[in-house]
Amino acid sequence: MYMPILATHNLVVDVSAESDNSLPGEFFFSLQLHRMRTRGRRPTVHVVTLGCSKNLADSEQLLAQLAAAEWPVAVHGTPRRNDIIIINTCGFIEQAKQESINTILDFAERKKQNRISRLYVTGCLSQRYRHQLEQEIPEVDAWFGTLELPQLLKHLGTDYRHDLVGEHYLTTPSHYAYVKISEGCNRICSFCAIPLMRGPHRSKPMEAIEQEVRSLVSRGVVEVMLIAQELTYYGLDLYRRRMLAELLRRLADIEGLAWLRLHYAYPAAFPMDVLDVMQQRSNICRYLDIPFQHISDGVLNRMRRQITRHQTYDLIQRIRDRLPDMTLRTTLLTGFPGETEQDHEQLLRFVEDIRFDRLGIFTYSHEEDTAAHALEDDVPPEVKERRAQEIMTLQQNISLQKNEALIGQTLRVLLDRREGAWWMGRSEGDSPEVDNEVWVADAAGLAAGRFADVCITDAAAYDLFGRVAGHVGKGPASPASATRNASFNVAP
Ligand code: SF4
Repeated sequence: MYMPILATHNLVVDVSAESDNSLPGEFFFSLQLHRMRTRGRRPTVHVVTLGCSKNLADSEQLLAQLAAAEWPVAVHGTPRRNDIIIINTCGFIEQAKQESINTILDFAERKKQNRISRLYVTGCLSQRYRHQLEQEIPEVDAWFGTLELPQLLKHLGTDYRHDLVGEHYLTTPSHYAYVKISEGCNRICSFCAIPLMRGPHRSKPMEAIEQEVRSLVSRGVVEVMLIAQELTYYGLDLYRRRMLAELLRRLADIEGLAWLRLHYAYPAAFPMDVLDVMQQRSNICRYLDIPFQHISDGVLNRMRRQITRHQTYDLIQRIRDRLPDMTLRTTLLTGFPGETEQDHEQLLRFVEDIRFDRLGIFTYSHEEDTAAHALEDDVPPEVKERRAQEIMTLQQNISLQKNEALIGQTLRVLLDRREGAWWMGRSEGDSPEVDNEVWVADAAGLAAGRFADVCITDAAAYDLFGRVAGHVGKGPASPASATRNASFNVAP
């Protein structure tokens, strides 16, 4: 899907400083011994991740391979003179490409000044523009495409290990993780360069995903975000039928998995059986990230989204009829070629009518080799910006009203981290990095990765504030006081 770039993930966990929760268990002892023997001798490999959660998941696989080969690894901190840098880039719109190039140039400069020893670039930008970039930035030692992890490891003298497929070296807080269920995309959205960089859709076998999630849960992960370019296509290539609902059923049965969250569902021909499973399983979040991109029939048609305005309204109605407490997140794209003021008015009305719970917006980026590149990029940049701003201002008011309506209610919150006198957490309707946060006043028993029932006392457009009002524990128990009357298969 054409998704918002998450805040740049210069996420870093210096292995020497962080909890080893993030290491695959079987590597823990050998890595500790290795550190004692080799500290100060072998360079550290720093992995810098740019872009979306899919890239983050790729970096975690790379880090797992490196850690298993006993490389000291880091995801933040200042590299030393003999350290190695790997930049995992993003390249799907202009802004993301620029950020990736700036990051590469920054490290290229450090390499020129002998402040790092080697520089490698991988990921989407590298896949798409390798040939141009290797001429222009000769300081980079080697460039790799999105499917060239074995070759990258080879450059470090390390063999790729098939037995580590699905292993994560967690760069997120240790209680949540992103799990990719497929790679690539078979859709034909005319504005999107992702299929050019990531290739056609390839589903991961269901057993492999189940094993991956089980392994994460056994290491203390309680929330899993299932990610893909397009979740609803899952299974069509591998099993000849859509299997997302079946996959959810199997994953929801994993003991100890408290929240399972879905990111990026394509709206055309949305598989309604997914909603049945959501209804049946209390640990699947009533949360759907479904990028609609636009509402005007003319624009949708030129975008090749395979859905009409009427079908879009109808789908949302059916989702809300079935699951009235569903949190709906969407992404919109403004300034697509030929978008008129009337189209924009329709989009504003759509946002007003639907009152999405969460909304992200992009301005159109004219990407070469996409189908839309043949159209004239005729909406001036300042008009694209103005339209995006109008939508965001409208959404900000909606979000504030929705949040104010929660004052006095009790929400079940998963705590992510502490900030001063507050714990920062999220409700079931909020995904990390992109959605609202709940500020919880400090109280006994609170810790990252724990659930608490929180009474909301104040609200802003994208933040809620509250105090503990009941259950605090490892599982999201206490159904009576929570937003959903559900029982969970997690011990309290
Ligand atoms: S082609 Fe469409 S469905 Fe596929 S990643 Fe791009 S925007 Fe998403």
